[in-house]
Amino acid sequence: MDTRLDQIAHATRNLPQRTRLAELEQRAAALDSELVRARTALGDIEREVSKAESDVQLVRERAARNRSRLDAGTGSAKDLQALQHELDSLGRRQAELEDVEIEIMERAEAAGAEVARLEAEHATLATDLEAARVAQDDALREYEAEAAKVAAPRADTVAGVGDDLVALYEKIRTQAGGLGAAALRQRRCGGCQLELNNVEMNRIKAAAEDEVLRCEECRRILVRTAESGL
Ligand SMILES: [Zn+2]
Repeated sequence: MDTRLDQIAHATRNLPQRTRLAELEQRAAALDSELVRARTALGDIEREVSKAESDVQLVRERAARNRSRLDAGTGSAKDLQALQHELDSLGRRQAELEDVEIEIMERAEAAGAEVARLEAEHATLATDLEAARVAQDDALREYEAEAAKVAAPRADTVAGVGDDLVALYEKIRTQAGGLGAAALRQRRCGGCQLELNNVEMNRIKAAAEDEVLRCEECRRILVRTAESGL
């Protein structure tokens, strides 16, 4: 019972589902920072887009004003010539700014796609995380149920063994790393696996049925069985 309970405790501490969940949580934390970075980058580029749009708009408005003054034909020939000249350079300026605007909009599109990609990954990860939590809880519940089942008859067994022997058993169990008593099988101690010599075997043969026997090597309590080789 105690060996199985120890195994269950060990398995509970080393659940593969727990490892999987920890990995996913780590990925989720990294993804959250990536998303913050990507959204910030997108926000910055969107501000650049607005700025570029208003730059282009200013040049357009200026050109429109010049054009209407030219169309009105008021002012000297020199003034009109200067207006025409400015209109030409505004046209060139507008083309340059529009190129800049297109370049920024392409970057905004790429940044938007990156945010969308990360958001999709985030959604998938959230589903995986939920599944991993459920899997971990299920595994824990199964082990808990098994432990309860294994431990249920322990109190009765302990009562039947008697306090002194139980105290000795618990002491050895602590010292020997979990296993306090072992069966003697084919002349071998089930704790340390060493074979008992003839002297020890003869001593055990001669021992009273209720004498508590110990392995000379590992000091565990030796339990005689039908297969002990006595
Ligand atoms: Zn032993």
